[in-house]
Order: sequence, then C-alpha cells, then structure tokens
Amino acid sequence: MRKFINLDANASYGPLPALKPSSILDSDYLNPSSIHRGGQRAKAAIELARDRVRELVGSDSALKVIFTSGATEALNLALNFPPEVARGRTIVSTTIEHPAVLAALQRFEKFGGVVRWVAPGRNWEFSEAPFLNALAEKPLLVNLMCVNNETGQLLPVAEISQALRSAGYRGLVLSDAVQAAGKLDLSFAGLGADMLALSGHKIGALPGVGALVVGNRTDLEPLVVGGPQEGRLRAGTENVPGIISFGQAAEYVRQNLAHRLARYAALRDTLEREISARFPDTIINCANTERVANTSSLTFPGVNADDLVVALDLAGIGISSGSACASGKPEPSHVLLAGGLAPATARSTVRLSFTAEAADDELAYCIEKLGDAVERLRGAA
Ligand code: PLP
Repeated sequence: MRKFINLDANASYGPLPALKPSSILDSDYLNPSSIHRGGQRAKAAIELARDRVRELVGSDSALKVIFTSGATEALNLALNFPPEVARGRTIVSTTIEHPAVLAALQRFEKFGGVVRWVAPGRNWEFSEAPFLNALAEKPLLVNLMCVNNETGQLLPVAEISQALRSAGYRGLVLSDAVQAAGKLDLSFAGLGADMLALSGHKIGALPGVGALVVGNRTDLEPLVVGGPQEGRLRAGTENVPGIISFGQAAEYVRQNLAHRLARYAALRDTLEREISARFPDTIINCANTERVANTSSLTFPGVNADDLVVALDLAGIGISSGSACASGKPEPSHVLLAGGLAPATARSTVRLSFTAEAADDELAYCIEKLGDAVERLRGAA
C-alpha cells in the first residue's frame, strides 16, 4: 500500500527522517532539575537544544530561548499582560494572525486593553502607515507574523519594525515565526523584533514543544507558575525528548536550508503549473506577493474545499481547507476573508503545503488525484 502523503506540512511536518531516536529516548536522561548525573545529562541535552534553536534564528548568544509546549503557549506567554498592565493600553496587530494570537488579544481586550487591527490591502500588502498612525496611542506592543500559515505570504516585519523604531517607537515588537522557520534564513536581529514564537512540529520535531525567543524584555509574566524551570518563566519538568528533537530539527533545517528551499520551489511550481494548465480558472492566492516556497493556496471555483479534502484523504493524501485549526468550523477562513475573498470563494480554497522529502512520483500522484477530484466534484455539483 502507498504510504500516506503529507501535503499538509504547515499543520504538522511529521518527524524528520534526520531525527536520531536513540538520543531522543536516551534512558540516561532523567529530571533536568536533579543534581545527579541522570539529571545533569538531561540538562546538558536541553542546553544543546537551546543553542541550536538560538542558531536557527541567527545565533545571538544574548537571546533567551524559553521552551514551551508549542507556539500557542509561546504566543500566549508573549501576550500575557495582567489586567493592571492591559487596562487602557493599546496593542497593534494584523487581522491575519493565527487563532492563538487572536484569542490572546481577545483576553487583552477583556482586561481593558484596546486592539488596533491592521487588515491587508487589496493585494494582500501591509504598508507602514497604519502601524505608524497607531503610534499616537503609545502602543504596548506591535504584532505581525513573519509568514502566514494559510497562504505562505511573507509579511514585511523587518521594514515595519524599522519604520516604527525610526519614528521613535520604544514598545515591544512580537512576531509569530512558526511558518518562517526552515523556509527562509531567519534572523532575529534582521527582523528587529523583541520576541519570536517558534513551533517544533512545524519543522519536523516531535509535537508538544515550541519556544519563545526573547531579546530585550524583562517584564515577562509567566503563564505557568511552580518550579524554577526556564528561568522561572515556564514552570514544570521539561519535555526532554521533545526539546532534544526540536534542537535536532532546528540544526538540520538550518544546515540544509538552501537545497530544501530549492526542492520546495520545484514541488510547488510543478504543482501550480500543472493544475493551472488543467484548470485555467484556478486562483493561486498571494501569487503576486512574496511567499515561502512550500505553500500553495488554491481556489477552485464551484468546488467545496471540505469535499476536496475528503476526496484526497480517500486517495491517501493529506491537504487542508483554510487552516487545520479552523477545519470543521462552518465559517470560511478569517485570513482569506481579510485578503478580500468572498465567502463562497474562500470556501472553495484549499491549502497544500509540502515537506522537502516529497518524492517526484508522489507529487505526480497528488497532481493527478487532485485534478481528478476537482473534475468529479464539479461534475457532481
Ligand atoms: N502560529 C502559526 C502561524 C501556526 O501555523 C501554528 C500552528 O498551526 C501556531 C502558531 C500554533 O503552533 P503550535 O501547534 O505549536 O501550538
């Protein structure tokens, strides 16, 4: 039987073949807080992983890497302002963020804060103006993601943070770098952010681990309190196997970036070319914006995206409609609506996101099955 093909890598990459199970599950690793050898070995393995994650974002030794249960927790930690801090203060954020950010900002509003939402322009673009206009309110934090998970669009984080600093902004800049890691040369310093959120399972580590990378911020309020782990910013015995796998995946994707990017581009370009040739009315969302090479957001007018997801699942291929977190929810994706798609068009949109390990024959099979399913569903409509 053909193995299941993951064309939904933005939801979860799956463990990289390059992971080393024997070191991830080393029975010598005990509680990293213990002073005996079993504890100290685990602690050393965590510190090695921390260095590797730091290297993934540009290797500045002053950066604090706080391991969490995932990017959702990292983003919640970054946006955890208690009511006495939130009250009357402003956060500026794009409207196309992951639900982890949207929900954390709703909590900020509940605590008396104000959120100034910045929507993309007609061609998905984000200009500096709405961010600069909000400076009059002396925002506590400005948030914009590096790469959108549904469309692969690259947002101008470096340009906007530079414009803000030039205009005298002294507040915090947060960026969700989950979908940027492993898909571009990520540089904490280059982005000009104060905090970046990362997720292990999006780059081929085990699920259940992420990190908040912090530059110059000293007032972080922990979400989880208890023991002194992670510099007292995230209590609880560390997820040792997850963290080690995160370190291994971070090192692997960083060292192999160039040829992985070339592979992503070859896969994505072949898919888009062949599908557009068979269905000339296919809309490639964000085709005219800068985007990462592994993601393709395709609209097939007249086709229900959820039906297409099910049809491909039956053929042994995983894709998604909207974002994985939104699947099963009747409303169309907030990202696609923010980008100006009509609700019916958004409901006809699927996301295909590649692993760099996908083989040519797997891609050919996916293109054939996708095309056949689109044709069948249109015939049935
Ligand atoms: N941010 C983005 C852009 C994502 O794509 C995801 C996962 O879908 C998350 C945050 C949440 O990551 P995690 O699964 O590690 O909580």
